[in-house]
Amino acid sequence: MQMIKVQKLSKFFDRLQVLKEIDLEVNKGEVYAIIGPSGSGKSTLLRCLIDLEKADRGDIYIEGKPLCINGCYHPEKDCRVIRSRMGMVFQHFNLFPHLSVKENLLLAPRLSKKQNKLQLEEKCAQLLHKVGLSDKINESIAKLSGGMKQRVAIARALMLNPDIMLFDEPTSALDPELTQEVLNVIRDLANEKMTMIIVTHEIGFAKEAANQIVFMDDGMIIASGTPQNILVDSGNCRIENFLAKVL
Ligand code: ADP
Ligand code: MG
Repeated sequence: MQMIKVQKLSKFFDRLQVLKEIDLEVNKGEVYAIIGPSGSGKSTLLRCLIDLEKADRGDIYIEGKPLCINGCYHPEKDCRVIRSRMGMVFQHFNLFPHLSVKENLLLAPRLSKKQNKLQLEEKCAQLLHKVGLSDKINESIAKLSGGMKQRVAIARALMLNPDIMLFDEPTSALDPELTQEVLNVIRDLANEKMTMIIVTHEIGFAKEAANQIVFMDDGMIIASGTPQNILVDSGNCRIENFLAKVL
């Protein structure tokens, strides 16, 4: 089943075109890693997929449902339903620092009122166990390490039972040690066949965990293929130069 389909997607900030006719298809259970230099449009692409930015041209389908066709969007109510099938994790966590771990996890689901309080509390406990933070349930976010914050952010995204997870450089604010604990959680999700797009500079992780690698430069997808195709023998000097810099 096709979870994400993007056709000729373009996005402008004023006169600057930051996405140039992007095509992308992600099937159920696949893990896509997006790599590429800073400013190439990776974050903007993810933000368009989850409707935090509006594309100007092109189509986006999420689980077969059109979010945007030729730059025209559904009414906000319908967009919200489509958006709710996806969870997103950001580089800087975007948690509420003055609230506890549990409060951060329960906030959005309580607003959506789809599950009762008991179900939500059970789910919260189960997800904190999954990310290895059962003992931090009542801790305030401000007291956690960066790696713990990011694992809380992942659990929070999973609270809404997404079918798709989007990660925007989830480990770039972390030390190498803390990076590993976050990558382990993402790896577990990949093993459970969660459909994911991960923007990352962790080339080793991308090589091992992703089915497909997408290389972006200057608003375009320059190349996509298996980790072997893109990370080992692309024969493309732009990709090779980039890899030489990040490795
Ligand atoms: P990446 O994530 O690959 O580093 P971004 O998607 O963040 O790239 O940015 C792509 C381009 O769009 C950059 O030139 C950036 O400066 C520009 N850009 C991103 N967000 C905005 C914004 N809200 N307003 C204006 N320009 C933006
Ligand atoms: Mg970015």
